Amino acid sequence: MKKEFAVIGLGRFGGSICRELSREGMEVLALDLDEDKVNEYRDIASHAVIADSTDENVLRELGLRNIDHVIVAIGDNIQASMLTTLILEEMGIKKITVKAQNDYHEKILNKIGADHVVHPERDMGKRIAHNIISNNILDYIELSDDHSVVEVIAGNKLSGQSLMELDIRAQYGCNVVAIKRGKEINVSPMATEEIEKGDILIVIGADKDIGRFEKHLIAEE
Ligand code: ATP
Repeated sequence: MKKEFAVIGLGRFGGSICRELSREGMEVLALDLDEDKVNEYRDIASHAVIADSTDENVLRELGLRNIDHVIVAIGDNIQASMLTTLILEEMGIKKITVKAQNDYHEKILNKIGADHVVHPERDMGKRIAHNIISNNILDYIELSDDHSVVEVIAGNKLSGQSLMELDIRAQYGCNVVAIKRGKEINVSPMATEEIEKGDILIVIGADKDIGRFEKHLIAEE
């Protein structure tokens, strides 16, 4: 059976999720207080309704209970975002993803039953900052409060050496879990694998260890 989604709040973030889910052929119920926003999504989402998500009766009438995954993308109105999350949790929605506006909001959302809290502005800021620190760092994804994955492009200093010679695990405490070369991806590369300039290394580890590895890469530039 096709998975059903509801997106509450059709700002830039919620709107983009709604478009993408619809493009992927998913059933999406798009909901917003604002009539103009809802009209914008009439031809995109499976259903688009004008409603206030803080009204429990409205959500029940719309049959939200039967939806697999609800995304709450209300930004500025933190109170409405929290109340909506609480109502959805009480309705027994299986999966609730909520956009947090700040750390305080995030903490409360976790406490009141959001399954997944996203903080797109902060996360994107971090990813861009790491890319700014070193041109060799292509991407940075936070796994937890203190562990991350980085994508590093191999320059002159790494090239021509095997993973064994580079000894990244012993030197920096992080692990190279895959190497991308053009379209090929080598998952769990052998220690004898030699790095070529332009290879992309996927490195996983504790933030402090990744930080030391990043410093090594800056020294390379
Ligand atoms: P963006 O994703 O564009 O950065 P934002 O984080 O600034 O958006 P807002 O513009 O504050 O978020 O809210 C997103 C949408 O949520 C708006 O279109 C707004 O009308 C809608 N919204 C706010 N409160 C409610 C509510 N109680 N019920 C339904 N929709 C709501």
